[in-house]
Amino acid sequence: MNVKTLPLGPVQANCYIVTKEDRAIVIDPGDLFDFDSILAQGPYTLEAILLTHAHFDHIQGVDAIIRSHPVPVYIHPQEIAFLKDPSLNASTSFYEMVSIQAPALPLKQGKMKIADFEIEVLFTPGHSCGSTCFIIENTLFSGDTLFQYSIGRTDLPTGSLMEMKESLIRLSSLDDQMVVYPGHGPKTTIGQEKRMNPYLLSL
Ligand SMILES: [Zn+2]
Ligand SMILES: [Zn+2]
Repeated sequence: MNVKTLPLGPVQANCYIVTKEDRAIVIDPGDLFDFDSILAQGPYTLEAILLTHAHFDHIQGVDAIIRSHPVPVYIHPQEIAFLKDPSLNASTSFYEMVSIQAPALPLKQGKMKIADFEIEVLFTPGHSCGSTCFIIENTLFSGDTLFQYSIGRTDLPTGSLMEMKESLIRLSSLDDQMVVYPGHGPKTTIGQEKRMNPYLLSL
């Protein structure tokens, strides 16, 4: 498995292209990018788009990808409606109005398989009610729940500090060696965050 990181858009949300052999999954396409040239490098066949949550900085590139690659888009069931709604996807308060028209499918907690990708879906509310982490082959894609030495804010609509604490407790029970690819900033590991992240240290 290979992970390519592309920080995109005005707040540089990390978009991840996860590839395995000739297949690809995109996590959080937050803005437009030259997606076809990346797929051509394999060449890779795109299998799905996974969204860690529906904030505008993680979704804005979805419609453009779907137009040329009509693959399923997965998100937490409580955030499907956020995709179209600029106040719920937080774009009204930050930026221009964002409304994604691509239909989305509801994630279920637990294991799912897409092509050869074995994905574990963890619901980790706190930053938003449907914030989700994905584990693919001992690698955690943590969205805006966990960052290197920090965590996502909990003061946006549907955020909750109490739920965030419970989600962080869950994430800290994961393997220390697990590599973490967050929604913003550099990658880290669960062990490094348990030693250095003030929010995990104060749980
Ligand atoms: Zn967010
Ligand atoms: Zn974000």
